[in-house]
Amino acid sequence: MLHGVGLTKSYRAGSGVVAAVRGIDLEMREGESVGLVGPSGSGKSTVLSLLLGLERPDEGEVRFNGVPLTGRQEIRRARQAVQYVPQDPASSLDPRRTVERQLQEPLRRFRIPGDHAILVRDALEQVDLGTEHLGRRAHELSGGQAQRVAIARALVTGPRILLADEAVSGLDLPLRNQVLELLKDLHVRAGLGLLFVSHDLTAVRLLCDRALVLDHGQVVEQGPTDRLLQTPSHPVTQELVDAVPRLPA
Ligand code: ADP
Ligand code: MG
Repeated sequence: MLHGVGLTKSYRAGSGVVAAVRGIDLEMREGESVGLVGPSGSGKSTVLSLLLGLERPDEGEVRFNGVPLTGRQEIRRARQAVQYVPQDPASSLDPRRTVERQLQEPLRRFRIPGDHAILVRDALEQVDLGTEHLGRRAHELSGGQAQRVAIARALVTGPRILLADEAVSGLDLPLRNQVLELLKDLHVRAGLGLLFVSHDLTAVRLLCDRALVLDHGQVVEQGPTDRLLQTPSHPVTQELVDAVPRLPA
């Protein structure tokens, strides 16, 4: 279980201070799929970096299976189990390194035991890529393949929970749907927990059982995804619902 308790984080910006996240509580169990939605600047990415232990909260704490992420040892242990799919996975790949090298890197960093060659092949298989991609570099991959490699890199350490930040925004429609199906499959078939950050409620409805709506660093509404879409009670949720493109009747 990943648990953020009373998370608060401010940043210095110019001469002022931005309160990015203000007292957020967020709990997710393994195997659960939770959406984190809200307008740009509402604090979604900050919540993820706090949950990942990449940044420390000013107040509150993150617990993984009850253990607070305070020391380096605890953060390291949690990071094997809680992995991150960045906002622009394709450009997060290192252009100079082969797919194989990039998938081995987290295994080395977290000193994962076992046969790394087998673990790398397993991760590729989970994203439906064949071993012929192992020797390729980013420029030899299509956008969709690069996206899959980035997801494989998050999967290779055998995580229980994936935190995906706007993983499908900016993709064209067919590619977006492919990646959504892949994430859904990992959640449903492999039982992977998913915290899916998006401002796209249709994607959230496809993937997530429940969602939290952020605005100005606070949770303004939360509940089952269907309920949020059908009867939004906060104006920000209403705006997100209104932004969902409707098919002509
Ligand atoms: P979202 O992901 O919902 O768009 P963010 O978590 O990225 O929102 O940002 C929340 C607020 O914090 C925004 O006002 C943003 O400008 C500010 N912010 C985020 N990261 C930093 C940073 N490293 N330095 C200064 N301000 C930041
Ligand atoms: Mg963001």
